[in-house]
Amino acid sequence: MTSSSDRSAQMPSADLIARFAAIVGAKHAIRDPSEQVPYLREWRDLYVGRTPLVLKPANTEEVSKILALANTEGIGVVAQGGNTGLVGGQIPHESGGEIVLSLTRMKRIRTLDPAGNSMTVEAGATLAEVQQAAREAGRLFPLSLASEGSATIGGNLATNAGGVAVLSYGTARSLVSGLEVVLADGSVWDGLRALKKDNTGYDLRDLFVGSEGTLGVITAATLKLFPEPRELATAFCAVPSLEALLPLFQLAEREAGHALTAFEFMSGELLGFVTRHIPGTRAPFASPSPWYVLMEISGSAEGRASSLLERILSDAAAAGLASDAVLAASLQQGQELWRLREAASEAQKGEGGSIKHDVSVPVSRVVAFIKQAAPVVERICPGARPVPFGHFGDGNVHYNISQPPGMAKADFLALWETMARAVHEVVLSLGGSISAEHGIGRLKADELRRVKSPVEIELMRRIKAALDPKGILNPGKLLD
Ligand code: ZN
Repeated sequence: MTSSSDRSAQMPSADLIARFAAIVGAKHAIRDPSEQVPYLREWRDLYVGRTPLVLKPANTEEVSKILALANTEGIGVVAQGGNTGLVGGQIPHESGGEIVLSLTRMKRIRTLDPAGNSMTVEAGATLAEVQQAAREAGRLFPLSLASEGSATIGGNLATNAGGVAVLSYGTARSLVSGLEVVLADGSVWDGLRALKKDNTGYDLRDLFVGSEGTLGVITAATLKLFPEPRELATAFCAVPSLEALLPLFQLAEREAGHALTAFEFMSGELLGFVTRHIPGTRAPFASPSPWYVLMEISGSAEGRASSLLERILSDAAAAGLASDAVLAASLQQGQELWRLREAASEAQKGEGGSIKHDVSVPVSRVVAFIKQAAPVVERICPGARPVPFGHFGDGNVHYNISQPPGMAKADFLALWETMARAVHEVVLSLGGSISAEHGIGRLKADELRRVKSPVEIELMRRIKAALDPKGILNPGKLLD
């Protein structure tokens, strides 16, 4: 059996590189190592890859020609969007034989149908550009995440991204009705359908969403749009105990239903990191609290969302589920409250090394997970500081752990694998998943094999072998 590292070690010849470059034109074929850097480093520097060539095709036809040639010659191809992935899926291996296929030039909005609530866009459009185009047509594209200014819609779909509006609108998977995909041999599947109902056999679209560039390259997508909310009401609450989080969520859900579009949480210690390290932020309350929740309610009629949120907050206070709360009085204040939550990951850098987990459990078990994981962390690294945060309403916890103060960063990071295994054991014992919204990539490929049943792994392998028999698509990622 050929291992992925053997495969990726195959170097394309100078002649072959020239043939690849000719497909996109010299200007869009990057060979200079210094110009390649932005495509080879991911933002946390966990992975730094090598490549003979970064190709930036202008259209689907060029993608098709590139894959056809790569397939014939057996050259690995790593598709890449905005290079914001968190599990190393978009970075080529260090061996240096794989070509990077950057979709960032393909950013056209092909069609937009406000009445049909759909738009078709090319893969390289950033999420922010997609949101903006929808907004200009009086519609909402609800996928929303911290990296939306550079993350592309193709990457969002290839990784089935989540973010802060999943509670009400679902993950990227539920926001797409059709795809255009270039297959390993260069053939193009046009599945760009804007249908709500379409029962015509196997759902090929769902096969490619979340496949992390290992089954095909998504070149365009038909997305679902929604009416733009008339009003957004945002509140930041101080929550007196871990145990209060679930009843507070249930209260908000019961009163607001689908209008509850975000229910995010973070630990008190983490909010301290944010106000300490992120310029321009300040604590919303005079005295600290062990937990915080950011709630958002979307309203269809002016004034309804804020009155609903006010009622939830007063009921929560009466029930002892919130000890303090601030309701944003303006759009700008709402954004400032969101900033406290969205800066959580960035703020951790100021506290040294951090070991990160993106896990999910049923929402009813989030509290049990946090309680059970803490002593496990303490046993492996006494003094390490778990700072859980994330999308409480989705049962999605970013279970990040900051190093003990004073410990050498490298010593702490050396514990990553041991820590991840132990934390994942807790997750699995509660019926959870080891990757909620970041994917598998390279970071969790070994873990995936360990936690999935042999039947499930075998099914995935058969699908991979059927769609990419030569193994040229993102070799060694997801399925090792
Ligand atoms: Zn998240």
